[in-house]
Amino acid sequence: MDYILETKNLTKNIKNENIIKGLSLKVPKGETYGLLGPNGAGKSTTMKLLCGLLKPSEGEVIFKGKPWSRDTLNKIGVLIESPAIYGNLTAKENMLIHACMLGVSENEITRVLKLLKIDKTGKKKVSNFSLGMKQRLGIAIALLGNPDLIILDEPTNGLDPIGIQELRDLIKRLNENQITVLVSSHNLAEIQHIASYIGIIINGKLKYEGEINDTDDLETIFMNVTKE
Ligand code: ADP
Ligand code: MG
Repeated sequence: MDYILETKNLTKNIKNENIIKGLSLKVPKGETYGLLGPNGAGKSTTMKLLCGLLKPSEGEVIFKGKPWSRDTLNKIGVLIESPAIYGNLTAKENMLIHACMLGVSENEITRVLKLLKIDKTGKKKVSNFSLGMKQRLGIAIALLGNPDLIILDEPTNGLDPIGIQELRDLIKRLNENQITVLVSSHNLAEIQHIASYIGIIINGKLKYEGEINDTDDLETIFMNVTKE
């Protein structure tokens, strides 16, 4: 198995509190990996460690077989919490700001806007976008520069069923484009439809990791893991 991202004994202490406790995960290349866990389990903190927003207290992050370095940043796209978008600008104008910071061409903006199907919003200001469209714009920004891995923290939060379906289709398209997706959720049913591998985090510890398919009973797996 080819892993795009691994962590070894990843640990994070914040204010004398041990938030992430020796997490070792393996994310297979080209797949969608679902990081599951109840609220407060440590999903967002883990994702921040993976993309360099936080520094590990112990342990390491390995990307494509090499220890995490600043260079890794260019190969990972992230959407954690709310995206950095300006409501008074259009989708393309928002993209231009980020493209400029990343040194990415305007062709790349067109490619990503098309991929996310937000290339026809024209002069519409982002403040008038639906939540689903804003979410897609956030993902579009994360995809600028063609990263190999994209990290999405609870991307279905607040989306209606249509928005969730669209996100699912989008994730499928990303995998088809050889982009690995790491997505977190506290919703088991959603992850079941999106992910081919899962990791279950409870209280800062990885309690389960493995491949899943449509017939697996995630709820039973989850309940067994929580009982331990
Ligand atoms: P999740 O995303 O799974 O809901 P988080 O990673 O946001 O969980 O948080 C995990 C735990 O770490 C929570 O108990 C949270 O209160 C705590 N935590 C996260 N960030 C901080 C911080 N900056 N200061 C203190 N505690 C924090
Ligand atoms: Mg979170």
